[in-house]
Amino acid sequence: MMARIHIVGAGLAGLAAALRLADGKRSIIIHESATQAGGRCRSYFDTTLGMEIDNGNHLLLSGNYAAQEFLRKVGSEDQLVGPDHADFAFIDLKTRERWLLQPSDGAIPWWIFQKDRRVPGTGPLDYFGVAPLLTAAKGATLKQAMKCEGVLWERLWQPFFLAALNTQPEEGAASLAARLMRETFAKGGRACRPLVAAQGLSTAFITPALRYLEAKGVDIRFERRLSAIAADGGNVKALSFGDETIALEPGDALVLAVPAPIAASLLPALPTPQSFRAIVNAHYKIAPPPGQPPILGIINGTMEWLFAFPGRLSVTISGADRLIATPREEVAAKIWSEIQLVTKIDSPLPAWQIIKEKRATFAATPAEEVRRPKTRSAWPNLLLAGDWTDTGLPATIEGAIRSGFAAADAALADE
Ligand SMILES: Cc1cc2nc3c(=O)[nH]c(=O)nc-3n(C[C@H](O)[C@H](O)[C@H](O)COP(=O)(O)OP(=O)(O)OC[C@H]3O[C@@H](n4cnc5c(N)ncnc54)[C@H](O)[C@@H]3O)c2cc1C
Repeated sequence: MMARIHIVGAGLAGLAAALRLADGKRSIIIHESATQAGGRCRSYFDTTLGMEIDNGNHLLLSGNYAAQEFLRKVGSEDQLVGPDHADFAFIDLKTRERWLLQPSDGAIPWWIFQKDRRVPGTGPLDYFGVAPLLTAAKGATLKQAMKCEGVLWERLWQPFFLAALNTQPEEGAASLAARLMRETFAKGGRACRPLVAAQGLSTAFITPALRYLEAKGVDIRFERRLSAIAADGGNVKALSFGDETIALEPGDALVLAVPAPIAASLLPALPTPQSFRAIVNAHYKIAPPPGQPPILGIINGTMEWLFAFPGRLSVTISGADRLIATPREEVAAKIWSEIQLVTKIDSPLPAWQIIKEKRATFAATPAEEVRRPKTRSAWPNLLLAGDWTDTGLPATIEGAIRSGFAAADAALADE
């Protein structure tokens, strides 16, 4: 029989691994416990709103090269849309000031010398305050690495790092923040154009990936929950899916691309992140007013980012553990009152949906950073993928895809 690679988990990490392995010598089988693929990055039909929405608003940056490679491979690179040049609209709810942050395209940050392109209330020198982050000691938090106060912190670095780390930035790992800086702002505006999947995450990432994989003969099995992994000191020997057990023959491999808590339950000896942070999304069925920016950063509000989609306004709140116990009605009303302030919409609360993802991502702290395992595990035929593995990035689409590509590269190197 042809040697096989079993990929468990059809989130972005598992799908990315499959995309890169699909042309190889071994046959590929994907096992997914849910009825659909995409994991934390997918769309669904919301019956309350009567429309298809994403499980969470997802923002990418143009420096996310692996995400773009994924999309090119499946022929949907046109699905990610954003401005030609980086710009970020902001409003401060306390002072009602509005501004447009406009980094210049190249690596030399000319924009910080232009008053109308930088954050109001800041001067050019303030921007060099982020430099110590790039040389921070291993294991340092952002607070230990740089000054986490002042106007620029409150109006740029705090919201940027909170969104990217999904962790209160002061306690976030400086190493992860530094990596983000190097891959985005430090490269200039060309690497930090904000991008969203205009027609939804599934249309951009998931549906075309499944179509591509099916055309390549990849066997994709849904409602297949991996319940146990049998391994000895050497290799993984068998995979149990409830009523079926699959033996791994010599030459076979397993790419485990499930979330961290599931990986920990299947392999108790594996180091994995132990603490997680919530994301709350609020959706309102109402047409955005004319001129509403596609993405608006909110300073000094409960809401942090306001997205304008056709027929819908949507809000993202990161590191949102404080809101998990608050009744949904209360959250919906509070955010709606802020949206009214920002948009000047004068109508009563429209149809809404609040989605609380309690364990949206692992906490991007130094303590969790050291618990992230490498692609290669203690078992030579078991490769790990997922946004929680040691990608050097926080838990993001980009990190998940890179982890899948890395697992595939390791499997190909073993052929
Ligand atoms: C609300 C929200 C907002 C976010 N916003 C952003 C953003 O703006 N930008 C960004 O870049 N990232 C964002 N992220 C993070 C991003 O969605 C994730 O990093 C990425 O989707 C993780 O992909 P993954 O493949 O590692 O894991 P998952 O998507 O969790 O995939 C794991 C898969 O394994 C399956 N599985 C689980 N157990 C088993 C089992 N026993 N057997 C078989 N299959 C199993 C699951 O069903 C799932 O399909 C956000 C996440 C959330 C939740």
